[in-house]
Amino acid sequence: GYRSRAAYKLLEIDEKDRLLQPGMRVVDLGAAPGAWSQIAAARVAPTGKVFALDRLPIVSLPGVTVIQGDFTDETVLNALEQALEGQPVDLVLSDMAPNLSGIAITDAAKSFHLAELALAFALEHLTPNGAFLVKVFQGPGIDAYRQQLQSAFHTVLPRKPKASRSESSELYFLGKRPKRR
Ligand code: SAM
Repeated sequence: GYRSRAAYKLLEIDEKDRLLQPGMRVVDLGAAPGAWSQIAAARVAPTGKVFALDRLPIVSLPGVTVIQGDFTDETVLNALEQALEGQPVDLVLSDMAPNLSGIAITDAAKSFHLAELALAFALEHLTPNGAFLVKVFQGPGIDAYRQQLQSAFHTVLPRKPKASRSESSELYFLGKRPKRR
């Protein structure tokens, strides 16, 4: 079984977009409890590798290197970059979501801040054919974020898996092939 129902969202997106291939190096941001990492590790096996980061602990998984800490903390980012050993990444996944305060404007701002940091990380580490899948929340800020993605990637696609219907404001963007800077 999978560690969370989030699994079904990634399975559905991967079914359509064929993101995960054997041999890939994948970074999974906001990975706990680890369902996306389970799927990614199985699909990139035997030669690929998954690097999973979360503030919360992730019970170990074969083929997955876990980094525990806050992605907005520079020492944690450094630990992730250390684990990558200077090698590029084929796919960056970010299912990060802030703890919701219930104040919509605060929650949206926090969420876009995480999404922007994830984008900066992706642009720094992706291969020229790489891809970036990121969770966002519909509301003010989404158009500006989409524009950032469009200036950074050759292709940007919205993805709303059926499995995330209940969490109605949640949406994913898939950026493919970072533009040369
Ligand atoms: N994709 C995961 C899975 O398949 O099991 C579920 C991810 S859950 C929706 C969102 C995660 O983002 C939470 O585990 C939370 O701890 C993490 N998160 C939120 N903000 C974070 C941050 N600043 N640094 C690291 N992780 C963060």
